[in-house]
Amino acid sequence: MSGNTSRQQAISHIRSRAPLQCDIPAPLSEIWACDVFNLAKMEEALSKNAFKAIKNTVQTGAPLEPATADVVAAAMKVWAMGKGAKFFSHIFYPMTNITAEKHDGFIISNADGGAITEFTGSLLIKGEPDGSSFPNGSLRMTNAARGYTAWDPTSPAYIMHTANGATLMIPSVFMSWTGEALDKKIPLLRANSAMDKAARKVLALMGETEIAPVNSSCGAEQEYFLIDESFASSRPDLLLAGRTLFGAPPAKGQQFDDHYFGAIPARVQVFMQAFEDKLYRLGIPAKTHHNEVAPGQFEIAPYFESANIAADHQQLMMTLMKSTAKEHGFLCLLHEKPFAGINGSGKHVNWSVGNATQGNLLDPGRTPHSNLNFLLFCGAVIRGVHLYGPLLRAVIASAANDHRLGANEAPPAILSVYLGDQLESVFKDIKAGKLLEKAKGGLMDLGLSQILTFERDPGDRNRTSPFAFTGNRFEFRAVGSSQSVSGPLVAMNTMLADSLTWIAGKLEAVLADGTDQTAAVIIVLKELMELHGNVVFGGDGYSPAWHKAAVEERGLRNIPTTADALPAFKDEAVVNLFMSTGVLSPKELNSRFEVYAEQYILSIEMEARLVVDIATTRIYPAAIAHMSTVAAALTSMAGLGIELDNKGLKAVATTTDSLMAAVAALEAALSGHDFDTVEAHMTFCASTLCPMMLTVRSAADALEGMVADDLWPLPKYQEMLFIK
Ligand code: ADP
Ligand code: MG
Repeated sequence: MSGNTSRQQAISHIRSRAPLQCDIPAPLSEIWACDVFNLAKMEEALSKNAFKAIKNTVQTGAPLEPATADVVAAAMKVWAMGKGAKFFSHIFYPMTNITAEKHDGFIISNADGGAITEFTGSLLIKGEPDGSSFPNGSLRMTNAARGYTAWDPTSPAYIMHTANGATLMIPSVFMSWTGEALDKKIPLLRANSAMDKAARKVLALMGETEIAPVNSSCGAEQEYFLIDESFASSRPDLLLAGRTLFGAPPAKGQQFDDHYFGAIPARVQVFMQAFEDKLYRLGIPAKTHHNEVAPGQFEIAPYFESANIAADHQQLMMTLMKSTAKEHGFLCLLHEKPFAGINGSGKHVNWSVGNATQGNLLDPGRTPHSNLNFLLFCGAVIRGVHLYGPLLRAVIASAANDHRLGANEAPPAILSVYLGDQLESVFKDIKAGKLLEKAKGGLMDLGLSQILTFERDPGDRNRTSPFAFTGNRFEFRAVGSSQSVSGPLVAMNTMLADSLTWIAGKLEAVLADGTDQTAAVIIVLKELMELHGNVVFGGDGYSPAWHKAAVEERGLRNIPTTADALPAFKDEAVVNLFMSTGVLSPKELNSRFEVYAEQYILSIEMEARLVVDIATTRIYPAAIAHMSTVAAALTSMAGLGIELDNKGLKAVATTTDSLMAAVAALEAALSGHDFDTVEAHMTFCASTLCPMMLTVRSAADALEGMVADDLWPLPKYQEMLFIK
């Protein structure tokens, strides 16, 4: 079937779809977390003592006795088999953004040839997938490929239902046999505990006597596109790269702003309902959903949870989103920029830290005293973003997110902090020493309670900031839609641990001088703002004036591509940050650099080869077919004595030549290159291959506007974005 035929067939297939079938959803109370082995289920299934032990582990991270693990494993097996599961799997998160699993049966045969089921504590605790097929960034030699998965009891096990049946899934960490982290969960757990330790030190200095463990929270808003999957078979770029490598802008794009918060198309509503039903069964608190700015773009935001569980749930959501979309005849695109010239997709990572005794530490609270804690924690974030902005940029770096960051609807590649007018002025006053005199008079004179119990900013008032305070949390908006939230959470918790340790040191010294608490806080924050206040910016992050001022006046860095961003993992300050907090050893950190750099290079080179292939085998033949039809018509008309203007034909010919010249150049660039360093290879991808791919694309997109519509092989933007 030639390209143009399959495009026409896709459209008629969509037009003739059967009417929607929508089941009435089951009541939430019946399905909520029904497939999760959570504390409530354990309480039913375990003895009092065993339950007490596992509850303590879940809630405080305390180690679990092997005997208790055996009891939990037995109860888990009974529960899972009662739900139809014959297999179990440790589920883990390698350094790529994917989720990995290895399935094992509960079944073993006995000496009599019969089959029995077995699931002991040690099977629950430890698994051994063949580690060699996962990226490890030189942490393991291929001949010593052993990797271990180990149960994370703080994230509940659950049943995954697929067409193949039910499987018990056990959230796990993944490490090398030498104990080095090969995944995204280990650093998150370590970063959380580093932050907890530093936060408790600060709270103790603030005179708090009862201090519960401090944890971080995360609520991620996920944007995505849905297009009819019938188009996918004629768009190898969408199938393999997850984005369109070609496509002229449609006559109607998003300029009418008629999609955002508009009525959700009926087919999409049916998909959302089925998807959310699955989330509820898995105990994932899906809360809001709506259309996004671009046509075909939507958002789902679950209610926030503790960071470790939110990260596991986020991965699960992405998997389910794609598989459920497929069941509904959609292709779900999580790519950061599937369509050029149309808004990209992000994942706003809302993040805060808090505990059971002091509450949310990034909430100003209602009393001056909680205001002081809040100011310290907020100051710690400001310092962290200033010192480690390039790290925050590096953890969200990918070939895909590079297309989105800095484009006019997404945050720029310059890390700054938005505080909102009220809070920004408080920190300005602190920096200018205005609050210092008042502080000497004690808490009441500061007037902070009036200042800080301000109205929460309910919406994205400042949508242009990559890192914004939104009333009781920070929102890291530069994160890409396909990325794991773990990298950003690790970076944020680790930088916070470092800043809180710095604050604790300063505070301790000032307090030791006999300064009273309020004045001490203001003195420390004044110094902090003098050193790091430059990172606070409340204006328009999209404006070219800011891009200039940020770099020239504020000394911040604009880091446009992944090639520029990833070397931050090798900065001495970053290596020391991870080492001093115990989150990643220099070796582990370096392995991450290697894995991410390799991913970047692989994805750009794969796209470049796809560009060559699609241009050569689909677009060029369409242009030739068009030219021969027109040329034949012109010739026969001339035979009848009618001379038609052949300018159009000449334009197609010239553009076709430019297309193929650009393809040849790209092909040459792809073959036979050799680099001394990974950095040089990344730079080659960013500054040579990417622009060359764009040159091919611009000729191809121009041809799309010239070649007869019925000859064009690739589904067009207006078809993919508007036909539902
Ligand atoms: P927006 O105003 O940015 O559109 P929403 O209110 O729809 O945001 O969603 C913001 C997200 O922030 C939700 O997932 C919400 O649960 C989450 N959130 C709220 N409070 C916190 C918190 N303390 N820590 C982390 N996430 C939070
Ligand atoms: Mg938001």
